[in-house]
Amino acid sequence: MRTPLVAGNWKMNPPTLDEAITLAEQVCDAAAAIPGVTTVICPPTIWLADVARAVAGTGVAIGAQTMHFEESGAFTGETSPLTLAGLASFVILGHSERRQYDGETDEGVGRKVASAVAHGLRPIAAVGERADERRAGSTSAVVDRQLRAALGGLERLAGTGLVVAYEPVWAIGTGDAATAEDAQEVASQIRAILREVDAGAADDIVIQYGGSVTAENAAELFAQPDVDGALVGGASLKPEAFAAILHAAGAA
Ligand code: PEP
Repeated sequence: MRTPLVAGNWKMNPPTLDEAITLAEQVCDAAAAIPGVTTVICPPTIWLADVARAVAGTGVAIGAQTMHFEESGAFTGETSPLTLAGLASFVILGHSERRQYDGETDEGVGRKVASAVAHGLRPIAAVGERADERRAGSTSAVVDRQLRAALGGLERLAGTGLVVAYEPVWAIGTGDAATAEDAQEVASQIRAILREVDAGAADDIVIQYGGSVTAENAAELFAQPDVDGALVGGASLKPEAFAAILHAAGAA
């Protein structure tokens, strides 16, 4: 049995720390009424400590939005896994926006995933095809390549706390979510690759779908056998919508 996992990726939102704390408290209130779901919020890095304090003892977990694979060194603006280890339980790695705007490579994502695990952080490894790749019929090949690279530095999956997020790039922030059937098809491909890497652990790994998840489409997505939750962007900033997504995960 996998515990559904819903993570809110706040990106560079909200604009002030006060609003971030208020949002975190609203998520905690909603999550308290929904047992059986792992709820994660991923605020901007600079507010990790404050938001972690605000949710302490509530069961809501904290995630970072990225990190460097090195523990220290001359990497201006980056965050070390050592710094995160006391503040966050999860870290999103390989988000398509980091791949697109920050030059994140498949190989770099693999190094980050291994580093996160080595530092006791649960990686949320994001994979997914762009619109042009989907049009070219390359979805399966892209997901295969990105996922195998992301897992490349792990000797086994058991005990890593790995989470895989299937996030088709064309669905992120567009309102154009994948159909539940398409999400399931790719999630099942991901599960098959996980099985090749570590047959004993593959059925325990949480696979999320991400890309325009809303209160309206969450239940259908979570009803799919290999979709164990969601990585949520826009709707994670709206407390009522996020609460409804948590409810859908709890009911799945
Ligand atoms: C995301 O950024 O990971 C995401 C899924 O965003 P949205 O829910 O807004 O599509």
